[in-house]
Amino acid sequence: MLKRKLKLKPEVKLLLLLLLLAIVIIGDTICFKILSPHFLVSNYEKIYIQNYGDSTNKYSPSVCYGITSDCKNVDVQIKGEVDYNTLGTYELEYIYTYKDKTYTIDQTIEVKDTEPPVISLNKKDILVCPNGKIQNIDVTVIDNYDEDIKEKLKSEIKDNKLYLSVTDSNNNTTEKIFDATIKDDEAPKIKINGSKNKTIIIGSKYNDEGATVSDNCSTPELKTEGSVDPNTLGTYTIKYTATDEENNTSTEERKVYVKNKEAGSRVIYLTFDDGPGAYTNQLLDILKKYNVKVTFFVTGKGDDSIIKREYDEGHTVALHTNTHNYNYIYSSQENYFEDLYAIRNRVKRITGIESNIIRFPGGTSNTVSKISMRELAKEVTNRGFYYFDWNVSSGDAGGTTTSDGVYNNVISNLKSGSSVVLQHDIKKFSVDAVERIIQYGLDNGYTFKALDETSPVVHHGANK
Ligand SMILES: [Zn+2]
Repeated sequence: MLKRKLKLKPEVKLLLLLLLLAIVIIGDTICFKILSPHFLVSNYEKIYIQNYGDSTNKYSPSVCYGITSDCKNVDVQIKGEVDYNTLGTYELEYIYTYKDKTYTIDQTIEVKDTEPPVISLNKKDILVCPNGKIQNIDVTVIDNYDEDIKEKLKSEIKDNKLYLSVTDSNNNTTEKIFDATIKDDEAPKIKINGSKNKTIIIGSKYNDEGATVSDNCSTPELKTEGSVDPNTLGTYTIKYTATDEENNTSTEERKVYVKNKEAGSRVIYLTFDDGPGAYTNQLLDILKKYNVKVTFFVTGKGDDSIIKREYDEGHTVALHTNTHNYNYIYSSQENYFEDLYAIRNRVKRITGIESNIIRFPGGTSNTVSKISMRELAKEVTNRGFYYFDWNVSSGDAGGTTTSDGVYNNVISNLKSGSSVVLQHDIKKFSVDAVERIIQYGLDNGYTFKALDETSPVVHHGANK
């Protein structure tokens, strides 16, 4: 019998050998994996994302000891802590000890905000301008992390639909699409600057103050028609027309009366008693803005610096009383003059001026004086003082307690000649009315002046 040895090439032999070796190693490994007792860790992720504020779904791997088919759960000890209410990265260590041997794995937990904001529509109808501006929408935008973020809402109109989107501070975005009505049939609004009716004296300058427009959808165009010839008597109309992008139109008119200068031109002397006080600087700011000069009848109270400012800014610093104590000043002429010279000295010390413009506390017509006001008025005149009462009362020392009240009392009682207006700069509501009184006066052909020795005499009758 022919014995023939199977001959293989050496490289094939090597290949077979390696193959055999591989089978043994892999097989052994598989056997070891399945059959020998060891720790099995399932659900394990090295980096785990935990949602912000969610402490109910705490992450932990499941660990057991045994062979694959018979593995008993063992407890894991956790080192480290996670604050589920604070965004951040937390490092934990899972430790399990079995038969004096300790095994550990590292665990990173990232607490992140992955929840997008919620857009909810409270009322179904949405009105949108043709240019995309939303006119009315009742929507709430609440985010689990940022809370109310309605102001971050972005909107866009496409094919008659409103696209809303919002992104929270952790970059989670929500988008929603709504049906919308697109229209604009609302006319622009026109607000005439200054007075709707103006009176100017012939020959003076006229500068129209114009008007301010607003619109629900766009910035409307404003057209101004008409002009005023200040050198020709008559009534003029300035017409303002506003048109928005959808051609909705509205108009307003201003009447301007060019009149002759009246006999004894109209002058307002604003006067303020009892200061300086807490609101005098505010008043001075307003007067400066309009370049209006007034008269302050000052007392012994308040800061020197305010009296200095009154004087420096061209107002008349006049004398009221040092103490404002009626009992004292009106019990004798001696007391009265002692008090009057005290306030005159104060003003002189601050301004360098010896003022001779005065106002009696309570006016010449006061009923509380124990001495004769008639004789006192004579005596102050003899001593070179000029005393002034008032012919327009703002009421701010009596029943009037609002700015509107002061304003109305003053403008409804203005004289066609000289108006000496009584106000108190220690009362905020009264000071608050001054700007409107000035605007009214300027709009209606009055001039404002401070009192001096040459001013028209305005005197009350004395009671005794
Ligand atoms: Zn007073």
